[in-house]
Amino acid sequence: MRRGLLKTVKRIVIKIGSGVLTDPEGTLDMVVIGQICDEIALLRHRGLEVIVVSSGAIAAGRNELGLTDKPRTIPHKQAAAAIGQTRLMQAYQTSLAPNNLKAAQVLLTSEDLGSRQRFLNARATLDALLGFGIIPVINENDTVVVDEIKFGDNDNLSALVTNVAEAHLLLILTDIEGFYSADPRTYPDARLIPLVKAITREVEHAAGGAGSAVGTGGMATKIAAARKAGKNGVATIMVSGKQRGIVTAALQGEEVGTLFLPSGTGLNRRKHWIAYTLKPSGMIIVDDGARNALLKKGKSLLPSGIVSVQGRFERGACVRLCGFDGVEFARGLSDYSSGESIRLIGCKSSEIEELLGYHYGDVIIHRDNLVLL
Ligand code: GLU
Repeated sequence: MRRGLLKTVKRIVIKIGSGVLTDPEGTLDMVVIGQICDEIALLRHRGLEVIVVSSGAIAAGRNELGLTDKPRTIPHKQAAAAIGQTRLMQAYQTSLAPNNLKAAQVLLTSEDLGSRQRFLNARATLDALLGFGIIPVINENDTVVVDEIKFGDNDNLSALVTNVAEAHLLLILTDIEGFYSADPRTYPDARLIPLVKAITREVEHAAGGAGSAVGTGGMATKIAAARKAGKNGVATIMVSGKQRGIVTAALQGEEVGTLFLPSGTGLNRRKHWIAYTLKPSGMIIVDDGARNALLKKGKSLLPSGIVSVQGRFERGACVRLCGFDGVEFARGLSDYSSGESIRLIGCKSSEIEELLGYHYGDVIIHRDNLVLL
């Protein structure tokens, strides 16, 4: 199964976690970085295009700043990332050079990828770098972001990068051998699961709950990343990154770590961007009739189906669509701002012009700008 799936893989995103890149003292582990870079070189020579999403900036900067503990405040984390990022890039450069490869630094923020223009710019840059045979090394631009506008973690960033770069596979190198039936540090009889066909609630539960901040060794964010990549038709393989030869083994289709199959229906790239990259800035509650029409009949959202509007958003913003139960079932780009939408609650499309004095169209969210979750 793995070999067949890997046959069509040409462009891959390799996400490398801080725990893989650093030793217990928090310094960059040049032996491991060297190993991984040698494997990247082998992949390049086989004609694969490799994009790295690398953590480790904050960890590497901590020592440089003389901090004994993990930095806690945001400015301290940012200072650590700023100095650590240069050390990280130096480490990649030094380790790729013997293989005649070069690293390029790409720092992104969530706002960058939230703008369609910048998203497409990032894609063009990555394409150009890969065309020159260079290895892009991506990290979050930690200096300029705070918690509310962060990607949150590099697992999430790596899943988004599979969409930006139109990659075919996400390989997550982490400090555990793969996905287990339970946290192996607490449950010694937990089993490694080699294949996850679908990311169900049970899988999320075993990972410590989707999006929970206390995942099993960060497993929840990895499952969320595999899910996002999967929605785009991209498979994820998760393996233990410190193991020598693991990248090659994974790419040759050996049964290492855990393979997450993509979900059947790949969203198109733009819809994936709407569903997963944009941060929703408001919520529209719709009645059951509208929910049914959106979920089952492929319709657009009309003002008549709106029950209430929450939060403030501009025209063009991404909003959550929820039913009476408050459960989000879709996301989309609103053609009307929150203020306008409130004025249009329950009205007919033919009344929009009269109510607002202008008219952007008959629907609040057009089907083409809507993604069912
Ligand atoms: N951007 C952070 C760093 O380079 C890492 C974030 C993460 O590991 O999720 O240190």
